[in-house]
Amino acid sequence: MFEEHPKYEYLDIQQTFFVWYRSDKGYYWDEEAKPGGQFDITLDGTKLMLTDERERQIRLEKKHVYGPFSPFLLEVPETTGYYPLNVLEEEPTLFLKFAEVTPTRKGILEFANNYGMLTYGETQVLTPKYRIESGQKGSLRTRGAFGITKVIEEGLTADNYAIVFGESLRFWQNEIRDMAWAVLVWEALKDKNTDILKRIIYWKGEEAVGYVLVNINKEALLQFYNAEEVLRATRPDNWNNFKAYLPEEVTLSTSSGWLATKWTSRRELFSRFKPGDLLLPAQYLLQSSINKKLKKYITKPRLLLDDKNNLQPYLMPENLLSAMWYQFYLTVIGEKKYKRCSICGLWADVTDKRSNWSKHPECANRARVKKCRERQKSEVLTNGWLG
Ligand SMILES: [Zn+2]
Repeated sequence: MFEEHPKYEYLDIQQTFFVWYRSDKGYYWDEEAKPGGQFDITLDGTKLMLTDERERQIRLEKKHVYGPFSPFLLEVPETTGYYPLNVLEEEPTLFLKFAEVTPTRKGILEFANNYGMLTYGETQVLTPKYRIESGQKGSLRTRGAFGITKVIEEGLTADNYAIVFGESLRFWQNEIRDMAWAVLVWEALKDKNTDILKRIIYWKGEEAVGYVLVNINKEALLQFYNAEEVLRATRPDNWNNFKAYLPEEVTLSTSSGWLATKWTSRRELFSRFKPGDLLLPAQYLLQSSINKKLKKYITKPRLLLDDKNNLQPYLMPENLLSAMWYQFYLTVIGEKKYKRCSICGLWADVTDKRSNWSKHPECANRARVKKCRERQKSEVLTNGWLG
């Protein structure tokens, strides 16, 4: 067994901003695809090339239990090219959009058709859609979005498959859930919204502080009295409490545990918390969730040449997930600022806007026009001009 080579071993010597690509013909859910091939995934998420048949067998057995499972999101075979997107410059609120994706096949497909996959592929998959019929003529090598040459793989079965990478539904659902959880905590902290925080953070006397997160939306969460009640509902016997709040394709997912206690190695941290306080424990929860993702989805420093030929720092995300967690990082450290528009409710980048920004100018305009029309209409009615 030896490690797969990183896909960008030699970085472009020109200055390069982070660009992510999506298929020009879009994506689809492949219900038949199975993980396999040379670039198979291991359980810890690293990709390895298998040379040992016994190793392959053991891994296949484990995968049967742990996944990844079909369906897999793949780019359609009809793909002829890729659209680039400068994510950091053109879509600064993408992590907030991602957090709001409905985690169903339909919701995810819509996001992928706009922004592409999340990574270079969770795993290589084998699927009849990418099978090369024996005796088939023509070019068998095509270059994918990331310069990965798709070639024919032989020897696995009697059939020949092209090398194609996919991301499972479960992978997408887990990533959306994690982002939604972090955004929920961040937004509640930003607004000092204790109505939300008291349903996430709970204290055990003055001895310990814990958290609980469930993959239901904010409105559903508010149906519970407090975090202890949410925690009780996460016990397997009580799962029915959540069923009504989840789309059919989505399984219940919960995360809970102590953030810090009087007795553990996080005593130092615990001593900074004031019993009953929700804000600092929530901030710690946010900090550790973001750090976990930044460790997994990496952003690396680069040097770029500016117009005056000086070297400037640039942080280069590895993939779309890295870019979105990096956006989140920039927000939390205060380099980027976001607000929800008070009219349309969508997020806006207000980093360079005045501090009292509250709505999109377009939204304000539309609202003014509407108000004006309504006034005219009511004048028409009261004056009886049309009567
Ligand atoms: Zn708006």
